[in-house]
Amino acid sequence: MPRPIIATVDLAALASNLSIVRRHARCARVWSVVKANGYGHGLHAVWRGLQKTDGFALLDLNEAILLRNIGWLGPILLLEGFFKPADLKDIDRYRLTTVVHNDWQIDALRSITPHAPLNIYLKLNSGMNRLGFSDRALPDAWQALSKLKQVATLTLMTHFAYADMPEGVEAQMAVVTRAGAGLVGPRCLANSAATLWYPETHGQWIRPGIMLYGASPSGDWQDISTSGLKPVMTLQSELIAVQAVPSGGRIGYGGRHQISKSQRIGGVACGYADGYPRHAPTGTPIFVDGFRTRTLGTVSMDMLMVDLQPCPLARIGSKVELWGHNIKIDEVASAAGTLSYELMSAIAPRVAVRLRY
Ligand SMILES: *Cc1c(COP(=O)(O)O)cnc(C)c1O
Repeated sequence: MPRPIIATVDLAALASNLSIVRRHARCARVWSVVKANGYGHGLHAVWRGLQKTDGFALLDLNEAILLRNIGWLGPILLLEGFFKPADLKDIDRYRLTTVVHNDWQIDALRSITPHAPLNIYLKLNSGMNRLGFSDRALPDAWQALSKLKQVATLTLMTHFAYADMPEGVEAQMAVVTRAGAGLVGPRCLANSAATLWYPETHGQWIRPGIMLYGASPSGDWQDISTSGLKPVMTLQSELIAVQAVPSGGRIGYGGRHQISKSQRIGGVACGYADGYPRHAPTGTPIFVDGFRTRTLGTVSMDMLMVDLQPCPLARIGSKVELWGHNIKIDEVASAAGTLSYELMSAIAPRVAVRLRY
């Protein structure tokens, strides 16, 4: 038998979350963001669950080609554009839409002869200072691209740095308005947070990622608790050990947790080499044998320990949910000082994935 750890990906939840995206932005078309192997859910799985999307957005040319090979004929957007001029050959061959964020990419486009003109997303740096043209450089880049015979359509794109925080989108929206004045074409601005909370950003295309997977862009599950978004991934395992620990006993590496009164503890077949966060401290919520309880001590590579006091009937073989419907992935992430994004995309290849239809 394989280790009892398994990740279930709920395709109906993906489809349902996409319909909730559309309810928030009825007039916009949707790029479903599936970078990093569909935020760790598996590209093939998310492609199946998100058949009704308008397009898929990702970073890696190989993932784009994989989507074509499994049969996706619709739009695919390369969010970071191309990395080398030679990539344009595949962009042309597989009919990909690409971001342009730098002058060298405009030069590279100018020097090719594609089978048909390409759709281009011109990236504006509106304040995140990661990728894109400055507001001053943008109009020239737009004019240069719009003159090229290699270019079919031109869309203005930017990315928000604080759409999930009190700062919001106002300052960056002002840059978009100013830099984009007089540039006629579609706009594509909103990530999940802006899709949920800033309708003024929706434009013609939106780019939701994390909300499709049923987690909160802010890291606080309460922020989406009334949205109807459903968790897509459930990470489950089983108890493989039960120990009666006497008062004063210490648990796990470094003995970080000490038992004050004799009690039963359980060992779960899940560790940081499966993608569970090693920094999850004692007290991180976990669901064992139908009850909410907590982790104890330091997470090991292949195992973690749990408090069995709330679940007196738990025994070897009892079911454990690390995250899913009962324990939100956002809760585990915030206990560990990180975000659901990191946990999802860090699910290890050794964890078997099962699709739920
Ligand atoms: C990852 C990403 C998104 C999606 O962000 P979420 O917060 O997951 O909705 C959108 N746009 C770009 C450019 C991205 O890199």
